[in-house]
This record gives sequence, structure tokens and C-alpha cells, in this order.
Amino acid sequence: MLVVMKADATSGDVDRVQEKIRLLGLVPHKIPGAERVAIGITGNRGGLDPDLFQSMTGVLEAVRVSKPFKLVSREVKPDDSVIQCGTASIGGPELAVIAGPCSVESRQQIIETAEMLAETGVRFLRGGAFKPRTSPYAFQGLKEQGLEYLREAADRTGMKVVTEVKDTESLPEVLAASDILQVGARNMFNFSLLERLGDERKPVLLKRSFAATIEEWLMAAEYLASRGNYEIILCERGIRTFEPSTRNTLDLNAVPLLKKLSHLPVLVDPSHGTGRWDLVIPMAQAAVVAGADGLMIEVHLDPASALSDGYQSLRPETFRTLMARLHDLVPFVKRRMPVAAVGA
Ligand code: PEP
Ligand code: MN
Repeated sequence: MLVVMKADATSGDVDRVQEKIRLLGLVPHKIPGAERVAIGITGNRGGLDPDLFQSMTGVLEAVRVSKPFKLVSREVKPDDSVIQCGTASIGGPELAVIAGPCSVESRQQIIETAEMLAETGVRFLRGGAFKPRTSPYAFQGLKEQGLEYLREAADRTGMKVVTEVKDTESLPEVLAASDILQVGARNMFNFSLLERLGDERKPVLLKRSFAATIEEWLMAAEYLASRGNYEIILCERGIRTFEPSTRNTLDLNAVPLLKKLSHLPVLVDPSHGTGRWDLVIPMAQAAVVAGADGLMIEVHLDPASALSDGYQSLRPETFRTLMARLHDLVPFVKRRMPVAAVGA
């Protein structure tokens, strides 16, 4: 249920509605909008009677939300959500570019990569420190040491840190070192991790599982929102299909569909989505045209020697080509490229 307040409702009116929701044993979620405040209600098992709220002072209407995902749906919040991260943002007119290596491999590697990326205007530095690998024998990441290097590299270049949180055990360290918590494809269905992150007040970048439907993905996002963490960014990273010539099939249908269903920002990761560096530029361009709010791109100084995902990583010169192509493209989709402010 959604209680939509009148444009001239007072904060007292809003408080009284929230109080009534709590008295019913339910949870109110205040959703500020451009014109008016709305209050989402969760915790009810069956349908609620709109008459419970309809006659309260300041209430415009009480409406049922038809989708199983509530707080992340457009029905509940018609305006696009913008996630603010210092002076950088995701979901606004500026195209968000998150770039960096699959894994942090050494201090020198991440610092050199960060300096190169910052020069091109990138504002978000990625790098895995706790890596969820398919093989237990594969490189598992530098863990705490990797986080330390990543933080240092980002701070030196005025960038924000995006890194994966693999489990609840490592969460305190990841929380301390990062600005955005990445939930990987393998963890999208890890409901205890989602619940734990829902209790934090730090943005979460929620990647799509390679076997998740759009609805399952939005329900995973709802786990976060239902516990009060509304700072959620969705990231399409390809799904598993019968096609063996690419690592995954990048589902660009998801972008305009999510934009209809949800107010959350949507990013696209063409690196994992294709698994091939030579397909990254065209699919990144396609993602922007499809309406993505930004991109996540894997970049490596020497892909041939990368400890993970070298084959899909762009070299610095190819990354610069991508940024130049995006510069040409963004005016057509009414966006602008990021311009990094050092020290931002
Ligand atoms: C990654 O971003 O390096 C990663 C492991 O991504 P995904 O969870 O999408 O496979
Ligand atoms: Mn990777």
C-alpha cells in the first residue's frame, strides 16, 4: 500500500500517518518526491484497506501497489532515484563510469590504474579484494591488503571506491574501505547478506545473478529497501544462455524494462556481459543508447598477465578510446560525461 500525501500536507500530517502505520504493526517508508511525499507500507501479509488512511488529514489517496516489489517500484516513486556519492552521482544526467581491474593485484597496479582512469574523468574506481571465484584454486584476492591499496589509490586520485562484499564475515572491513558495496552475481540470491546490507546506510550496487529473472532481481533489491537502505543501484552483467561464444548474453532488454518498472538507477557491465574485450566498446555504447545510467568496465594495465578476467579487460589505450566514443555519444541521449575533480 502507498499513502500519497497532498502537496500541502504538513510534517505533522505525515508523522500521524506514519504513527498509524506503526500502531498497526507495520513499517512506514517515507518517500520524498518532487511534488509531494508518499509513504510506502510494508509488513502486511494480506491487502490493506485504503479507508484506514483515506480520511486522514493531508492524505490525497491510499493506493494498492500491484507489483510484488513495492519500495523499488515506479508505482511507489515516479521520480528517478539519484544516488549521491560525494560530488559524484549515479542516476542523474552525468553518465556514471565505474572502472578498474577485476582484482586488485598490487599497490602499484591499482595506483597506476587509478591515475590513468582519473585522467579520463572516471569518478568511481572498482577492484575486487574478496573475490568469489568458481575454482577454489584460483586467485581469491588480496583481501584486507587489497582494500587498503584500493582505498589509497582512490583517495590519491579523488575517486570513490566500489568493491564486492563477498560475505557477512568480511563486511566490516569492506564497509570501512568502500563508498559503494557491490553484491556480485553469485550473491544476488544470498538473502542473509542482503538483509545485513539492508541495515547499512551505504549504497549497494546489486548485480543481476546470471540466472535471475527481472522480477527476482527486483525482489532482491526489495530486501535491501524493506530494511531501510534505499540507496540501490542495479547492474546488468549478462545472463547465461545456450550461446557459448560469449561468456554471458548481455540482456539489454533489461535496461528499458527496469526503467519502466523501477525508479532505481541501472548500470550495465559489458565486461562480464560479453567476457570479451573486443565486444566491450560496442556493447557499452549500446547500453548507453538503451538508457543505462552508467557503465562498469574492467580495465587492466596488462590484460595478458591479469590474475582474473584478463580476456575481458580493456587496456588503457582501448579504455581511452571507449571514453572518447562515449563523449561523442552522450549528447544524443541527453547526458554528459563525468569530469573528475581531483580531491572530490
Ligand atoms: C566482478 O565484478 O568482478 C564480478 C565478479 O562480477 P559478477 O558478480 O557480475 O560476476
Ligand atoms: Mn571480473
